Amino acid sequence: MSSAGSAPSSPLHTANVARMYNYLLGGRENYAADRQAAEHLLAMAPGTRELAVANRRFLERAVRHAVEQEGVRQFLDHGSGLPTADNVHQIAQRHDPSAHVVYIDNDPVVLAHGRALLADGPQTAMITADVRRIEQVLDHPDVKRLIDFSEPVAALFVSVLHCVPDSGDPPGIIRRVVDRLAPGSLVVLSHLVSEDERARRRLTDFLDGVTGGNWGRVRRPEEIASWLEGLELVEPGLVEVSAWRPDPGDVPGPQSSEWIELGAVARVP
Ligand code: SAM
Repeated sequence: MSSAGSAPSSPLHTANVARMYNYLLGGRENYAADRQAAEHLLAMAPGTRELAVANRRFLERAVRHAVEQEGVRQFLDHGSGLPTADNVHQIAQRHDPSAHVVYIDNDPVVLAHGRALLADGPQTAMITADVRRIEQVLDHPDVKRLIDFSEPVAALFVSVLHCVPDSGDPPGIIRRVVDRLAPGSLVVLSHLVSEDERARRRLTDFLDGVTGGNWGRVRRPEEIASWLEGLELVEPGLVEVSAWRPDPGDVPGPQSSEWIELGAVARVP
């Protein structure tokens, strides 16, 4: 994609989280505004590119764990993002060809790029929906068609709920999904956090500004931990994403003083 020739009033002049993340991961589905914003972010918080890569690796390991170790074969990928090298259905179906996956994102750009790549068979679907209206997600015809809620489901919220402001009630979103899930289901969560109040404020304000208000909040680690209360944390619990069951050869995440990403897999009792 290219931003050449866009009018100044074009939405392409506003950065977008999905495309900034795509840029950080080395993808090509991004515009100049996304690249500029991402570079600015890298100057503010060096290590953010490694952090994005580590987050994606966490998602891959968590999905593989869900299929191989927990026998889960249904996935709801909330805030799925633009397609990357290895997407949830490819990881899951490699280990269990019968796996069903529904991708959910509120960004029409993700739908445009994702539909062909992500919804490439009768067992996968991609829908445009906002997780803040989670009942619309759970009652969507494609979700009803592909997901059997009487069987375990892995509900992925990987690097998405920091895009949701407090008014969107992120813990309530998780709770309302968990209420629908059968025992043995999983919540896979990752979220940007910082112990440093000034860093939280600076990064939140920056991302809110460059995305035109389509951002939530960098939160405190304790807030994220509280969202998983009542669920059984799979070992090693809520940790920096690269420390969650690393594979041989996985590198530790950046030791950024600005922010880190925490990740966990939690089982519905
Ligand atoms: N989950 C992927 C991963 O971790 O590799 C992509 C994460 S990307 C940082 C965040 C994604 O969440 C973007 O594609 C964005 O469009 C999507 N998103 C943000 N707010 C959302 C909302 N309220 N409802 C649905 N998707 C949302």
